[in-house]
Amino acid sequence: MTDVIVVGAGPTGLLLAGDLAEAGVSVTILERRDGGISNLSRAFGVHARTLEQLDARGLADRLVSTGATLSELRLFDRVTVDLGGLPSRFPYLLITPQYNVEKLLLERALAAGVEIVHNAEVVRLRQDDTGVTVTTTGQTRRAAYVVGADGFRSAVRQAVGQPFPGRSVLKSIMLADVRVAERPAEMLTVNGVGDAFAFVAPFGDGYYRVFAWDRRRAVPDDEPLTLEEVQDVTRRALGTDFGMHDPRWLSRFHSDERQVPDYRVGRVFLAGDAAHAHSPAGGQGMNTGLQDAANLSWKLAAVLRGAPDRLLDTYQTERHPVGRSVLRSSGAIIRGAMLKSPVGRAIRGFAVRRALSVARIRTKVMGQVSGVGYTYPAPRGAHALVGTRAPDVALAGGGRLYEALRGGHFVLIRAAGVAARHDRVRVAAPATTGGPSMLVRPDGYVGWAGTDTTHLDQVVTDLAGASPRRAGT
Ligand SMILES: Cc1cc2nc3c(=O)[nH]c(=O)nc-3n(C[C@H](O)[C@H](O)[C@H](O)COP(=O)(O)OP(=O)(O)OC[C@H]3O[C@@H](n4cnc5c(N)ncnc54)[C@H](O)[C@@H]3O)c2cc1C
Repeated sequence: MTDVIVVGAGPTGLLLAGDLAEAGVSVTILERRDGGISNLSRAFGVHARTLEQLDARGLADRLVSTGATLSELRLFDRVTVDLGGLPSRFPYLLITPQYNVEKLLLERALAAGVEIVHNAEVVRLRQDDTGVTVTTTGQTRRAAYVVGADGFRSAVRQAVGQPFPGRSVLKSIMLADVRVAERPAEMLTVNGVGDAFAFVAPFGDGYYRVFAWDRRRAVPDDEPLTLEEVQDVTRRALGTDFGMHDPRWLSRFHSDERQVPDYRVGRVFLAGDAAHAHSPAGGQGMNTGLQDAANLSWKLAAVLRGAPDRLLDTYQTERHPVGRSVLRSSGAIIRGAMLKSPVGRAIRGFAVRRALSVARIRTKVMGQVSGVGYTYPAPRGAHALVGTRAPDVALAGGGRLYEALRGGHFVLIRAAGVAARHDRVRVAAPATTGGPSMLVRPDGYVGWAGTDTTHLDQVVTDLAGASPRRAGT
């Protein structure tokens, strides 16, 4: 029996499986597709917190070298969020196609020993007290746990009887990946005039992503789309179509806002688009899925090493509220961008700019958009740092916290006087002294903090499991 079966080799499944394999867990990905990564990229924006997660896996710098960085994110009209002040090594939005993220995650997963089975569409799933039996079109397999990272139409979600409540927000959004004759002056160009709305951003590989929407023309997603239609709507919204030509991808899609009530059903978990769907505004979908994966992977590894099962319940209590918040914020952006009345748009733009001039609100919005502002609920009586994002502090003797986390390790940032070794976690001293000891989880959040380390062994058992990691992992 495999420890974990991950259904779906999208970004969420690949990150999760790579983490598990690096932690010494046996993991198989079942993927419906027949291999390869599509260059028809859906996502193209990677936010700061995702880059921090990739940094904790040694992948961020390589990904950053594939794209362009944007330190100001335009939400709609003249409403922008300045990312330059983010307290992160990555104070920007990285523009790079989703396939670059998937390529790195795939390489890492394979190097860590993940088994990937292609042409394996999961059609059925049955769980009992000891495991889960998964049936694909060709075979039956068994695992202690299953994660459904199988996207918007998740078969795993349906198999565990989870509804996907919500609604379609916008129908018939046009997507075109094109080359342009004139380069737009700004990195992100976005505007709405009357019934037309358009958004243009570079991919960094010579192509530009265009989203266009025409309020007067709501047609089914499978209605053929021509470049002329995209050009026409873009001209109406932006005054020019930038001489777009040579489309490599033209399609229509609709934008839903949905979320499953339960991210955990017994031994089965849902992550990424299988658990939540929202508008592409703000570029949150892939980012949220990768954060789900980073949250769940170390918990599964820990429980397989003897940590209590209740640790797995925290996947729901930590990630469901974040999914809900992303649904709300990306919905607000898209509704703001698509307002029809010019007066309504002016009032809304004024009100949002005013709100963003207040430092506290600006920090909150910047934290939500970039992902660095999310915190998780802490147990009653816990230190105030528990559940917060651990900053990438410099360590005594060189190196940084997020380098020390690589390989899925817990890192104990020890205060003066605390032992320098532990059999199950890495121990490091901060370059600057002061503050309590802090146990940082593999996903870069504080799992425990305090000055009294008498019960540290129990804390480690509860969060990381009782048995040490296998040698070499
Ligand atoms: C137009 C557009 C633009 C977007 N822009 C952004 C952006 O800028 N930033 C951002 O963060 N997000 C963006 N997103 C969202 C982002 O693309 C998704 O959130 C992301 O791909 C979700 O990753 P995932 O791994 O959860 O699911 P997916 O990428 O959908 O992967 C699911 C995988 O599961 C496989 N699968 C499905 N069913 C089965 C089955 N029964 N058995 C086995 N395998 C199965 C599929 O073949 C697929 O490989 C955008 C989406 C769209 C449509």
